Amino acid sequence: MDSKTRSAAKFWLRWSLLLAALLALGLALAALFRQNGERISVSGSSATAQREDHSLPSASITSSRVTPTPPPATPTPPKQFDGQKAWEDVVFQVNLGARIPGSEAHDKVVEWMVAELERANWQVEIQETEFSGKEIKNVIARRGQGFPWYILGAHYDSRLVADREAEPSKRSQPVPGANDGASGVAVLLELARSLPNDLPGQLWIVLFDLEDNGNLPEYEWIMGSQAFVTQLPGKPDGAIIIDMVGDADQQIYLEGNSDPNLAAQIWEVAERQGYADRFIPELKHTIIDDHLPFIRAGIPAVDIIDFDYPYWHTTQDTADKVSPESLTAVGDTLITWLKETLR
Ligand SMILES: [Zn+2]
Repeated sequence: MDSKTRSAAKFWLRWSLLLAALLALGLALAALFRQNGERISVSGSSATAQREDHSLPSASITSSRVTPTPPPATPTPPKQFDGQKAWEDVVFQVNLGARIPGSEAHDKVVEWMVAELERANWQVEIQETEFSGKEIKNVIARRGQGFPWYILGAHYDSRLVADREAEPSKRSQPVPGANDGASGVAVLLELARSLPNDLPGQLWIVLFDLEDNGNLPEYEWIMGSQAFVTQLPGKPDGAIIIDMVGDADQQIYLEGNSDPNLAAQIWEVAERQGYADRFIPELKHTIIDDHLPFIRAGIPAVDIIDFDYPYWHTTQDTADKVSPESLTAVGDTLITWLKETLR
């Protein structure tokens, strides 16, 4: 190699090194740009989805087409309804004492229900209002937004006097309300703990005050739910009320004021779950219960109630008359129905 050839070789080596360096720089810049572009588009679409979710009461077709809803934070794994836990919650409520208006037990049960629902990650508020001159405290727990929107309800108060008592001297005592009051609350609290937190739409659990003092001076039936429906912001797709659902000798017949279509869906699910002997698809009683204010407002509603209960409005309405199996039959049925309906 002569000196001329050597200097030419040096020249080309310099240039190819420079070209290689430029190429590497170009590739690095292109990679960085692509990465940034992706980050921007991801954060942009989730910001849009969030904004739309907050501003719209229900997901519109346009918004779901343009920006798919981001998945919820952490889906909870499915948990079986625990009838034993629900039964223990019946015992707990009865041990507080009768949850009659103005009593310490009434205050304590409200405090406890709020704590249990918050622990199960529901948004909870106490609706303090009044109805026909009586103070009302309904406990409202919410999850999700938009539609489908369903409400599950039960009353938590117990009756001031056991006026169905055979023994006249006991008729002025309050009702312990193990089945009539505590059973519905216990099932709804265990549902609140068992339901997956990523169900689409909106679910409310409402624990109603002052259902159970009808035919007593200064009181009406279903005062808490009447106050609630009057102040309801919008029209849910339906409401399911459960009351007296824990009787160890359980027969739940179709109820006369209930929406027949919604009731048929629930009884069909119960049959599929193996509870055909407990959910009997025959009309038997027609009852004033917390479903009525919804029906009067044009909202389909169902009352799941076992009204063949010999201890109704007596001092014998105690936890030994309630069984975990009966609470489970209702809890299982509702979980399955909700998973099939909220989608
Ligand atoms: Zn009652």
